[in-house]
Amino acid sequence: MSANIIDGELYAGKIRTRLIEEINTLKKSGFYPHLKAVQVGENASSRLYVQNQQKQCEAIGIKYTLDELPADTKEETLIEHIRRLNNDPDVTGIILQMPLPEGMDAKKVQTLIAPHKDVEGMNPANMGELVYGNTKLVPCTAMAAVELVKSIGVEIRGKEATIVGRSAIVGKPVSLLLLDLSATPTVCHSGTKDLSAQTRKADILIAAVGKAEMIKGNMIKPGAIVIDVGINRVKELDAQGNPVINPNGKPKMKTVGDVEYATAKEVASYITPVPGGVGPVTVVMLLRNTVEAVKMRANL
Ligand code: NDP
Repeated sequence: MSANIIDGELYAGKIRTRLIEEINTLKKSGFYPHLKAVQVGENASSRLYVQNQQKQCEAIGIKYTLDELPADTKEETLIEHIRRLNNDPDVTGIILQMPLPEGMDAKKVQTLIAPHKDVEGMNPANMGELVYGNTKLVPCTAMAAVELVKSIGVEIRGKEATIVGRSAIVGKPVSLLLLDLSATPTVCHSGTKDLSAQTRKADILIAAVGKAEMIKGNMIKPGAIVIDVGINRVKELDAQGNPVINPNGKPKMKTVGDVEYATAKEVASYITPVPGGVGPVTVVMLLRNTVEAVKMRANL
């Protein structure tokens, strides 16, 4: 058996189309989404994220602006900046670009973003809402993983779900979302004794570990739905197992997930590729949260 591929790009496109309609309706009622990004210091990877966020926002009609603070900004100054944005009626969503410079308490600053502008769903108030089954502002990656399961259209109620990873941004919220959909979630972590026993019983397997290709095909129940959240950069190897070298003398790198795709796709019924699975849907969930935040303000 070879699994059906869940195409994240395709699904993200459908959500974008729906969001464009919602944004047009909001604007007609005088509500204008404005996502404010805050970046402290220079960082090549977060600059790329910012460019991508800006492109994606503007493509669907969300205003996107960036506040760049110098690398030597004091934590109190950043906190003051966030407080000003919380009170700025023109700003409807705030995203704090990671990483922050060393010495700053990222979690503390992040949780100071007002819950109604917290488009990453990281404020403890929004996490608490999730426990109560309110899924308006949920961490984007967790939402993306579960949306992709829902996109298949199979009954989730009664399914065994194993989530590998218990982080606050992925594993824990995924387990709550699946629990809300009446699956039976098991959450695994580095202390789990027999990981294979847990993954092999899963009708829905969510891998969010951060370890390249750790979950092999023989750890997967035949016919399972496999959602691979992992993003890992590894050296590309040739047929002899040696690193492929670029013309610049550096090893050629590639992106792989936490699941060994080649073996897993022979066992699973559905699988997300890496790249092209959870990643593009995560970005679109940020856009959706930005729209949700405005809808909440507009009481829609
Ligand atoms: P974290 O490092 O915060 O969490 C990893 C989790 O995996 C931890 O709970 C850890 O357990 C668990 N773990 C580690 N080793 C094992 C093991 N051998 N057996 C079982 N569990 C293990 O990672 P994140 O949740 O932030 O991210 C997970 C992956 O998702 C990464 O590859 C990341 O790059 C990717 N990611 C992808 C996104 C996307 O848009 N597609 C966005 C965000 C993340 P313990 O708690 O005990 O340490």
